[in-house]
Amino acid sequence: MKRRHFLQSTAAGSAGIAVATNSQAAPSDSGKNAPVIEADVLVCGGGCAGTAAALSAARKGVKTLLIEKAPFAGGIITSVGLPFFDGIADIRDNRIIVRGIALELLAKTGVCKPDATHTEKHNPTIPSTFEFKVLLDRELTKLKDNLTTLFNSFACDVISRDGRINEVLVANKDGLVRVRPKVVVDCTGDADIATWSGAPTEQSAEVQPLTLHFRIGHVQKNQDLTKNCRAALAKAQEAGELPMYYGPGIMFKYANDEIYIHSIRVPANPTSAADLTRAEMQGRSDVLAMFTAWKRDVPGFEDAYLIEAYPWIGVRESRRLVGQHVLNEKDIMDCRRFDDAITTGCWYLDLHPNKVTVGSANDFQPEKVQPKPYDIPFRSLLPQKIENLLVAGRCHSATRGAHASTRVTVTAMAMGEAAGLAAAMSVEAKKSAQEVEGPAVRATLRKQNAGPQQDWS
Ligand SMILES: Cc1cc2nc3c(=O)[nH]c(=O)nc-3n(C[C@H](O)[C@H](O)[C@H](O)COP(=O)(O)OP(=O)(O)OC[C@H]3O[C@@H](n4cnc5c(N)ncnc54)[C@H](O)[C@@H]3O)c2cc1C
Repeated sequence: MKRRHFLQSTAAGSAGIAVATNSQAAPSDSGKNAPVIEADVLVCGGGCAGTAAALSAARKGVKTLLIEKAPFAGGIITSVGLPFFDGIADIRDNRIIVRGIALELLAKTGVCKPDATHTEKHNPTIPSTFEFKVLLDRELTKLKDNLTTLFNSFACDVISRDGRINEVLVANKDGLVRVRPKVVVDCTGDADIATWSGAPTEQSAEVQPLTLHFRIGHVQKNQDLTKNCRAALAKAQEAGELPMYYGPGIMFKYANDEIYIHSIRVPANPTSAADLTRAEMQGRSDVLAMFTAWKRDVPGFEDAYLIEAYPWIGVRESRRLVGQHVLNEKDIMDCRRFDDAITTGCWYLDLHPNKVTVGSANDFQPEKVQPKPYDIPFRSLLPQKIENLLVAGRCHSATRGAHASTRVTVTAMAMGEAAGLAAAMSVEAKKSAQEVEGPAVRATLRKQNAGPQQDWS
């Protein structure tokens, strides 16, 4: 039996603090008498992919449990305050290329009609990330006969035997809880479940930097604002007040005198607890440094005040599954077609570098790595070695370059929807997830007005 002990993976962090390896104190040992929850489908992580996976599985009538470490669903959208629905439409003509749950949720925010064929912009934003949080609460609660949602619940260990996950251990206010699922959908973004169960995953030596978003109120709009903000950041960096940044990305998104900023850039290893903690602290410190610099140096900030930074620093990239098919840049740029395609991606290969980039997030021209709408195969959600596991969202199986495109919010939702459906199909057919046929998942998605764009265009 393979058992991952909680403390073993937390080796010395970059802050230089060694964390002891202590298998004696592992919660999996102390949790022998922990309460047991049985579920048909367990979805770990209730972000973009996980929320869609849970809705998708529960709508098929199987008993579904959604575990999310935050006190709300939505992942990056709600925890990092990201309003973008990128991946919904083709950049060339704003034609919608992903329907299903992603389009349904976008329509429920009021941005478009449920049967829209085009969006106003290829990268629409939702009006309020708080309202989106409440929308997801309601969508999850509507399915309460089949779907149990547990927030503030961290999946922290996996017990697997003979290529199968037997239990996932979850820590929450009930203490340690043992979940016994028939099938698991890993939507943790970090492939936590896949890695701990023994399925092959990988993390590149360098991953994309982390970003904390924030908002400033009482800013007076003027035409030189962004230019002056940019100059103030360069000065702050020169003075040693700000180690790194990009852009700045400044949007008057929510009010005429309020800006939403994406500009923080912190290189870190998001799968090291110690380094992630350092990144959270660095992100907050950088928010204050930016605000101070702008208030001091930029006309229009005289009455400005820092409203708040969002609760978490956002992770763009960490572990990725090495699955049955590793989607690569050539597949994407050549628009390779797959029989088992379960959705369509369309975002450019959006790789953020670990250095200052002035005026933009990237150090290349996005149009040079802009694919036409491309297929994502079911096999890139299927792991090797573990039969009752699917992996969706930004930790699905792709190379680092391909993942730079597939990681966006709507594409993650579409993968989650397909994985949740496939998990339910495996329960209904009493088959392992590996035995579910990708083309059958595709055909069922098509009947639900979802799946790859070429099936319904
Ligand atoms: C700063 C930033 C800016 C971005 N900008 C854009 C953009 O402009 N447009 C765009 O489309 N995309 C953008 N992205 C990318 C996109 O938001 C994410 O890649 C996308 O949200 C991926 O969805 P996901 O469900 O895989 O992961 P997430 O949305 O991150 O969800 C993962 C969920 O799993 C939970 N979780 C993790 N581990 C555990 C565990 N062990 N137990 C329980 N729960 C767990 C997390 O709390 C989280 O809710 C950005 C990402 C970042 C970080």
